Amino acid sequence: MSGNDDLLARSLAAVWHPCTQMKHHTAAVEALPLIPIARGQGVWLYDAEGRRYLDGISSWWVNLFGHCNPRINAALRQQLDELEHVILAGCTHRPVVELSERLSKLTQGRLGHCFYASDGASATEIALKMAFHAWRNRGRPEKQDFLCLAGSYHGETIGALAVTDVAIFKDAYSPLIRQAHIVPTPDARRAEYGENPIEVAFRAASALEAYLDAHHARIAALIVEPLIQCASGMAMHDPEYLRLARHLCDRYEVLLICDEIAVGCGRTGTFFAHQQAAIRPDFLCLSKGISGGYLPLSIVMTTDDIYAAFYDDATSRGFLHSHSYTGNALACRAALATLDIFVEDRVIDANRRLAKIMAGYLAPLGSHPAVRHLRQRGMIAAFDVDTEDVAFPRRFYREALARGLLLRPIGNTVYFMPPYVISAEECELLIHGAAAALDAALQP
Ligand SMILES: *Cc1c(COP(=O)(O)O)cnc(C)c1O
Repeated sequence: MSGNDDLLARSLAAVWHPCTQMKHHTAAVEALPLIPIARGQGVWLYDAEGRRYLDGISSWWVNLFGHCNPRINAALRQQLDELEHVILAGCTHRPVVELSERLSKLTQGRLGHCFYASDGASATEIALKMAFHAWRNRGRPEKQDFLCLAGSYHGETIGALAVTDVAIFKDAYSPLIRQAHIVPTPDARRAEYGENPIEVAFRAASALEAYLDAHHARIAALIVEPLIQCASGMAMHDPEYLRLARHLCDRYEVLLICDEIAVGCGRTGTFFAHQQAAIRPDFLCLSKGISGGYLPLSIVMTTDDIYAAFYDDATSRGFLHSHSYTGNALACRAALATLDIFVEDRVIDANRRLAKIMAGYLAPLGSHPAVRHLRQRGMIAAFDVDTEDVAFPRRFYREALARGLLLRPIGNTVYFMPPYVISAEECELLIHGAAAALDAALQP
């Protein structure tokens, strides 16, 4: 047995892999290969036999500056010798304080209070609980319902599923879920004949307005993924929707939660996606890229107003939520090293150039007979594939792998979300390779 085969067999016997029908790895007709990764360097992942794969999806949207980034590695090594972790209730430490201060500064101090957890779904849970509890503390306990958008994804714990609208993740658990109300998505692909993306945004916002007009007394918060609903297929919308939604939330006394777990940290062209609409959320959820893709870390940032609603003599009016690894020092230090790279390398500007390079290589795909809705915002690009073949996603995945590319289509949507350290040559390899994989996957 080769080094690879041994690891594969042991993994299939002992590891229950996420988001996976395990039978597809073993007994299915066209079994999907499990890829054994021995090491990573920059945008590349290597198996034990030296085969390499370009990480075109940043290892599930978390990696920003490549695998084994020397600067993040050095910061973590230093942190390891100082403090690995300490309870954040009753104690504090330099990395968590500095990270909170620096993130607050990135919102011009408007979101000056950072609450910590370890994964994105927990950040969603925290934002929902805080929104409800803030209203309750303000004497409005009837505000206990939530609004989310069609096609939304905010994580997969039971509370997060309540504001998630992706059937495959949710349907089996529907008896367990306290369902939020779903309002129409401003997804620009929904344009009716002659409509532009701004008009789609206005149409979705008037549906939101109609709902709020009737039900605002019971609504605690609206949760949105600014600019791109990633998990339901990289659905992009015009920033105008966020402006309209903010305005409506103000008018109807509804809190606005921006879930930037996927779209934050420079992904869409600005450090925070909501900045492109010049709005201010009441809650901002961050995770994924915030630690550079190194360690589980999530953060819910909020305003002085929300913070004040909990600040009281009564313990029960406080926010008593916690996770064991809240504010982990190593994870916070990885985040600080990540923020340092943004400043030192002027990453937002560099990404603008990189996004243009990607656009150049993507352009020819626009006239491919099976490609629909080629779209891009910053460092996320996607297109939909017009095919009836239900096996297309798996076939594309295999064809991409055969070309040394790690790409996982979402249904019939092929997308690119590479680490920001990808070079122009690697962009070309990635997108040309994907085009070849597309043609191979479409062959009968
Ligand atoms: C990934 C994601 C989450 C959930 O984060 P996990 O760390 O996977 O729990 C929530 N919201 C959005 C927008 C995401 O993309």
